[in-house]
Amino acid sequence: MSAGNIFMVVAPSGAGKSSLVNALLESDRDILLSVSCTTRAPRPGETDGRHYRFLSVDTFKQMRDNGQLLEWAEVHGNFYGTPRDIMDRALAQGQDVLLEIDWQGARQVKKHFPGAQGIFILPPSIDALEERLRQRGQDSEQVIARRMLAAGGEIAHAPEFEYVIINQEFSVALSELKRIISAARLRFAAQALRHAALFAALGISQDSGN
Ligand code: 5GP
Repeated sequence: MSAGNIFMVVAPSGAGKSSLVNALLESDRDILLSVSCTTRAPRPGETDGRHYRFLSVDTFKQMRDNGQLLEWAEVHGNFYGTPRDIMDRALAQGQDVLLEIDWQGARQVKKHFPGAQGIFILPPSIDALEERLRQRGQDSEQVIARRMLAAGGEIAHAPEFEYVIINQEFSVALSELKRIISAARLRFAAQALRHAALFAALGISQDSGN
């Protein structure tokens, strides 16, 4: 068993998920970001291997069919998936891993890892969501319209998640995200594994937590 936590951060496009995750990772070096594979084209400023592994549809399907993806989904007309090897290696080393995925992927991860914790980021309003998509200036009108349509569908899955953060004020939302991570690290099972010698010395059975 591994002491590593799996955090899945899910949100409709434009809710500010990536900014929150980037700020979290800058201040917390103990979380590994799982770099997803995708068949969509890189946006300006995105680099292969850092933001995504940008793959052709054929290569993606090959990886999927070879069982190299822990989960995969079609989102906004493109394929996205989580490579299995990075996750397996990180968890074997007791490393916390964060996945930025959609609700379909989160469901699949939960099947493999029931202890994975889902965090849903909500916008403060639908208008704020559309405004953020436009401000980003990276997507065409057609893409924005498609993403707004999809947002309602994504938000409908918020009840499947353990945690919800409303991203009205960035600094507040970031502090809430950090607190979720801190609390997860203090769960009995994680602490018992991390401090096995102390728990043994204190006569605490490691099997009694969850
Ligand atoms: P974007 O194209 O804006 O980077 O991402 C579009 C959507 O795909 C977002 O909801 C994002 O979370 C989701 N996504 C990104 N990577 C993955 C992945 O590996 N698996 C799944 N299921 N969804 C992903």
